[in-house]
Amino acid sequence: KPVILWFRRDLRLHDNPALNHAAETGRPILPVFILDRNPDRQTGAASLWWLDKSLRALDASLQTRGSRLILRSGDSLSQLQKLIQETNADAVFMNRLFEPQAFERDAEIAHALKADAVDCRGFNGSLLCRPGAVLNGTGGPYKVFTPFLKALLAQAEPPAHTTGPREIDTPTAVESESIDDWKLHPTGPDWSKGFDWTPGEDGGSAALSDFLAHGLKAYSVGRDHPDRPATSRLSPHLHWGEISPWRAVERARDAAAAGKVPAAEAEKFVAEIGWRDFSAHLLHHFPTMPERAFRPEYDAMPWRDDPKGLEAWKRGRTGYPLVDAGMRQLWATGWMHNRVRMVVASFLVKHLLIDWREGEAWFWDTLVDADLASNVQNWQWVAGSGADAAPYFRIFNPIAQGEKFDAKGGYVRRWVPELRALSDRWLQAPWTAPAEVLRDAGLRLGKDYPHPILDHGQARARALDALKTVSGRG
Ligand code: FAD
Repeated sequence: KPVILWFRRDLRLHDNPALNHAAETGRPILPVFILDRNPDRQTGAASLWWLDKSLRALDASLQTRGSRLILRSGDSLSQLQKLIQETNADAVFMNRLFEPQAFERDAEIAHALKADAVDCRGFNGSLLCRPGAVLNGTGGPYKVFTPFLKALLAQAEPPAHTTGPREIDTPTAVESESIDDWKLHPTGPDWSKGFDWTPGEDGGSAALSDFLAHGLKAYSVGRDHPDRPATSRLSPHLHWGEISPWRAVERARDAAAAGKVPAAEAEKFVAEIGWRDFSAHLLHHFPTMPERAFRPEYDAMPWRDDPKGLEAWKRGRTGYPLVDAGMRQLWATGWMHNRVRMVVASFLVKHLLIDWREGEAWFWDTLVDADLASNVQNWQWVAGSGADAAPYFRIFNPIAQGEKFDAKGGYVRRWVPELRALSDRWLQAPWTAPAEVLRDAGLRLGKDYPHPILDHGQARARALDALKTVSGRG
């Protein structure tokens, strides 16, 4: 009797615990992916673009091992039951999803399958440590990152590296839907044409190798400069499980042990991967975080209803070059540099005083790495309402951030080409440039590029006033 290997966000053959356990049974394996409603929320458009390519890559990898990916769509439990009936399978192995509603749904599915005498088993293939396993001295959840990471790294055991079985025996007479029929590209409009990524486990491994060879040696400083290719760009690969986080951690540490990079740089990278686990850990213990502020007083913020401001932010037309560059990078590539994510998020929440949930929703739809736990945790971090968050009164100045982290202007000039001819001195605040400078640069403010939609100083004062209404601080 075959074993069903239910792929979800573990789209790889190496380091895949569910696959390894299925192979250990010595029985035929039926790899299946079911296109179902995401139980936590509808999958975003950019994520579906990624999924399309990643499933094709997984199918190709499976075919090199004599197998293939069976595609089904609809309710997961009904589809599994149907497949069990068609193939006589009596086991379902999967790597777990840890978002609260997905976790609950999996438990219901396992319960229903077990009632039909199906052996249903779940593993952790996506996080350094299963959420809920790392607890503080009193048995409660950590709310501060540094002690959480310390405890996690002391406690979690890296699994042995595996490449998966060389041959996967899959029954041939099982029907599959066609991925072309799923039409997973964005429509009306399809803005994904310029996305330049290689989804799939080979793409993930290549991104990691490239980062280890170039970015890691100066990661701790380089990671703050959006014009440098100093970060790994592993986030979508990690989200879709095309690479395991332990693999990234161990290869970084191996590079340090071999003297190729300083140990402190490798550990900084490990800590960032740790933030991913911390986000999942928080969502597990505080499952209302996608809807509600972790610090409840922040739900009383006097958010503004400003559709025009929101639209200017989404389209990269706020008149603040670093903010606009980030929002345009997001639209054009499905990804944005972390430093700039912090600046644009702060601009929305503090300068525009628009509810962080509006920004989180836009990121969810447009990021190829959109991840419920990380997105929500980071938005709440910026908004000041999260656990271990930046204090609300620390308001990023988008001009100063640009001058500091994009000092040579390479990032802004790439994504806001209408400002290209402006010298570094005026680039981050074009409205302060004398008229002749603008003329020489061929720039008509208000026509080629917008006037700033708000004044930084006034917006800052308004944000601080708003803060006083919720916390009495300022
Ligand atoms: P690297 O610097 O190479 O870091 C390595 C890995 O560590 C990343 O791939 C990621 O998995 C993890 N990581 C790094 N920083 C963080 C962080 N702050 N929080 C959680 N994990 C982190 N990341 C997502 O994966 N999905 C999201 O939906 C997401 N939304 C965000 C929203 C906002 C407002 C902000 C400020 C940050 C968000 N991040 C999100 C975190 C971070 O910006 C990205 O993980 C990072 O930019 C990805 O690029 P990289 O792979 O080159 O990162």
